[in-house]
Amino acid sequence: MPVAETELRHKDPYQLMVAVILSAQCTDKRVNIITPAFYERFPTVESLSEGKKEDVFELIRTCSYPNNKAAHLINASRKIVQDFQGRLPHEVDQLMTIPGIGRKTANVIAAVAFDQAALAVDTHVFRVSARIGLTEGARTPLETERQLTSQIPKELHSIAHHWLILHGRYVCQARKPKCVECGLAEFCLYWEKKVKN
Ligand code: SF4
Repeated sequence: MPVAETELRHKDPYQLMVAVILSAQCTDKRVNIITPAFYERFPTVESLSEGKKEDVFELIRTCSYPNNKAAHLINASRKIVQDFQGRLPHEVDQLMTIPGIGRKTANVIAAVAFDQAALAVDTHVFRVSARIGLTEGARTPLETERQLTSQIPKELHSIAHHWLILHGRYVCQARKPKCVECGLAEFCLYWEKKVKN
């Protein structure tokens, strides 16, 4: 993965937050179709905080769960304006106090927008790490995050997240991993077991 970075288009932390919230259960491709008009209508966190839910809903209606996401986006922007002077905080713990921002989203924003050592675990990272053997018996994303961050050097946390996501998206896919063409096969526990059996 020579270029390992987020595929969500954004120009600042605010736009990244919008895109990451929209991307839950929705493809990055779909989010990238939706966001240009969204950023034009709501160019700043302040403008979004003053927006109406129905206007937000209308702009994001083609992504999954538009009703919930519209509420999250408005509530998040209000909280950022009220409690953080309109600027997204840099730390994961503070980001997680914002409505609609869970641990995964907070880690993505902290790592991508603010260059913090944070490793977000989504479904791809969870699955790929377990298959390769980077984690052992992890039952939740938090357990995966803890095992990965205890083994991977801090300066690689952010890029490791992108490596694992992209590997999961394009090679180590959920239903049919492309093991035969995978560059990691010789290091992979899943492949080793498969070959032995
Ligand atoms: S060898 Fe197969 S299971 Fe292992 S990382 Fe590659 S694609 Fe995934």
